[in-house]
Amino acid sequence: MTAKVRFAPSPTGRLHVGNIRTGLINWLFASGLGGVFVLRIDDTDLERSTKAFEDGIETDLTWLGMTWGERYNQSARFAIYDAAVERLKAAGRLYPCYEKPEELDLRRKVQLSRGLPPIYDRAGLKLTDDDRAKLETEGRKPHWRFKLEGKRVTWEDLARGHSEVDTASMSDPVLIREDGAYLYTLPSVVDDIDMGITHVIRGEDHVTNTGAQIEIFEALGAPPPAFAHTTLLVGADGQGLSKRLGSLSIEQLREDGYEPLAVVSHLARIGTSDPLEPAASIEALAGDFAFGKMAHRAARWDPEDLAKVNAAILHAMPYDEARQRLAAMQGDLGEAFWLAIRQNLTLFRDVAGWAAVVSGPVTPAMSDEDRPVVEAALELLPETVDETTWSAWTGAVKARTGAKGRGLFMPLRRALTGMDHGPDMAAILPLIGRDKAAKRLAGETA
Ligand code: GLU
Repeated sequence: MTAKVRFAPSPTGRLHVGNIRTGLINWLFASGLGGVFVLRIDDTDLERSTKAFEDGIETDLTWLGMTWGERYNQSARFAIYDAAVERLKAAGRLYPCYEKPEELDLRRKVQLSRGLPPIYDRAGLKLTDDDRAKLETEGRKPHWRFKLEGKRVTWEDLARGHSEVDTASMSDPVLIREDGAYLYTLPSVVDDIDMGITHVIRGEDHVTNTGAQIEIFEALGAPPPAFAHTTLLVGADGQGLSKRLGSLSIEQLREDGYEPLAVVSHLARIGTSDPLEPAASIEALAGDFAFGKMAHRAARWDPEDLAKVNAAILHAMPYDEARQRLAAMQGDLGEAFWLAIRQNLTLFRDVAGWAAVVSGPVTPAMSDEDRPVVEAALELLPETVDETTWSAWTGAVKARTGAKGRGLFMPLRRALTGMDHGPDMAAILPLIGRDKAAKRLAGETA
């Protein structure tokens, strides 16, 4: 049996690190097994869904390298859901209810005050045809609830192990709203059946839904798929991310300049026993994926860890891979430049700063204490400079001034680059070139 999974985002906002982690786990699981990753746009809420958000989902998945084998819009499939509704109605599993939200609220309060669980009392089931006709002439429209069997629904969850939900402790879920709109619960099951989904992988916040949905699979005469409910992402402080998710959109990470491989490597490995380091590719991550590695604790989304993974990717990036991007930002100063500066990058765009140090103009930084070393260095600067210059030259400056260690190198770095940190000076000096180096040592902006 080929594994087939689905990622079902709602196009009511941009994807963020929380929902993309779910998508990524689906992708890795399916790809690792040579299976199919289905992108299913959950746009049954026609009012809140937009084409722009739908396009955004595709842009983000494509950027991350998460290709899909099949793609659907739920909004194009209402006829299939309508047919399932007829079957559930005929089986007596879907019934109309007429309560207004205020009435339900009041009933819940009364139940709670009596120490009873706030479960829907199934008043809708007791209505006669006459009652219903009367309510409808009053202008009320029904919403439709699925009649739960009220039992222990159990499954072997790939992520959480043996799981159970007691549907007797739940209200019968509303599947169709008063305005006729489908809530997510039914279309999701109908599609999972129709598309042959073998594994439903989603966040732990769906565990209760799974109890009801397994009953719906059964009511529609289909064997439920396997389920995996993964822990939710938390921030570096251990707190839930829900309030911060707006700023954690994939779009934002892309604009901030993160490498897509850093994002997927970080997302795939947090909360697992794997080291937090970049993977060679998203396919390599798929090869490594196993639910068994996922810890039974929350996965922490830590921007500092992401930055470390990002930096590690750049530190190992060959010139050939960087070249086009360097050219696009007028930063292609040759392979020697790339190899000299890549260790100092956290984000690719940091290249610009080092290109400016090499090309100038740079205003040298020089304190009074630096001056004797810098003046001697200018006098001793050879006529031509290359990769071998630095060690012989600084050796001569040391012999002349007695300066050594930091006292020798820092004044030179500051004069030549205007900064007190940066790439290996032996590699940077020939890139700056003799003329500019001499000017900077003389205190000129060059
Ligand atoms: N659109 C739903 C969500 O994003 C899909 C849940 C599911 O995977 O079943 O929560």
